[in-house]
Amino acid sequence: MKKYQLMAPGPTPVPSQVLLAMAQPIIHHRTPEYEALYIEVRAGLKRLFQTSQDVIPLACSGTGAMEAAVVNTLSAGERVAVVRAGKFGERWVEICRAFGVDVIELPAPFGETVAPERVAETLRTHRGVKAVLTQHSESSTGVLHDVRGFATATRGTDAILIVDAVSSLGIADLPMDAWGVDVVVAGSQKGLMLPPGLGFCALSEKAWARGAASSLPKYYFDLAEERKFVAKNEAHFTPPVSIVVGLREVLRMLEAEGLENVFRRHGRLAQATRAGVEALGLEVFPRATPSPALTAIVSPRGIDSEKIVAAYAQSHNITIAGGQGEMKGRLFRLGHMGYAAEFDVIVALSALEQVLADLGVPVDFGAGIRAAQKVFAESSSRG
Ligand SMILES: *Cc1c(COP(=O)(O)O)cnc(C)c1O
Repeated sequence: MKKYQLMAPGPTPVPSQVLLAMAQPIIHHRTPEYEALYIEVRAGLKRLFQTSQDVIPLACSGTGAMEAAVVNTLSAGERVAVVRAGKFGERWVEICRAFGVDVIELPAPFGETVAPERVAETLRTHRGVKAVLTQHSESSTGVLHDVRGFATATRGTDAILIVDAVSSLGIADLPMDAWGVDVVVAGSQKGLMLPPGLGFCALSEKAWARGAASSLPKYYFDLAEERKFVAKNEAHFTPPVSIVVGLREVLRMLEAEGLENVFRRHGRLAQATRAGVEALGLEVFPRATPSPALTAIVSPRGIDSEKIVAAYAQSHNITIAGGQGEMKGRLFRLGHMGYAAEFDVIVALSALEQVLADLGVPVDFGAGIRAAQKVFAESSSRG
């Protein structure tokens, strides 16, 4: 027997109390029981997204929620600016183009970010930019973009700011209303420690107003329609009932820990992972601010990173992730988001030491773990 461990940057492990809650018999979604469930979830989602607006759930993965954000706020032929600094930035470009939206790309090399000043400059020099689209945590490179700076750049302009927070919600602080973010997109299988299958969109008043004028085609993903049902604590179509039941459990867990502590925990896990990796002589990939959700690591010279991913799986039954797109073969990525704690980082680093040694890389056994433990010893898990 080899104990299975899921340490990829999504999907992420689901806590046993959540699994147990989801194992209950399915309740019907047009019943007082579902309404009571949804009343609690609806309030909890607002606190999690840090907004006074209703959060709209959708039965889809994160990409479906990204598509919903586009088709509900834009029209064909309209112009947008996209921060493209990784695979998920490219996804925004692809979705927009699929719907005939005119994209101005703000590219940055993988591992880097785009300065808010470039966003401001683009809005100044190009007329009629209706939206700025970005990731918060770009999971393909492990970079955290400066969403607060982007929000400052878009505030007071005609553009709305649309943020893919699939790998940052419940991981990195993203106070939607306070920062002035117009659309926050999220998914269930990253920081929310749920099975894949539930997406979310939250819209500001500015974004809802834009929606009223949006002419892109939509039926299942019509957020204005869905909003009417949310207001009645209902769902327009059959919701993924089990995941919503799990979500109630997750929201209770996050509230018990306190959002600030949740963010602090992720920050420490990320910091310890980076320290461990560097102590083993490896290079952490991001040149820009690293995401607290995952750590992207450059494969040692001469070693295809897919070999590292395969060795984790074959020797230790641990799932991690390789590089995506142009980074395939060059990066491997360790997730430490959601249901993750100190000893998960220790396990991931300990396995890394063994994997590297097996691949012929000289390893000072214990060096990675020691560096991580030092970070834990020197930083507090509570404020
Ligand atoms: C995981 C992820 C998504 C969504 O991917 P799906 O496979 O559709 O759930 C989108 N953006 C980012 C940044 C992600 O990490």
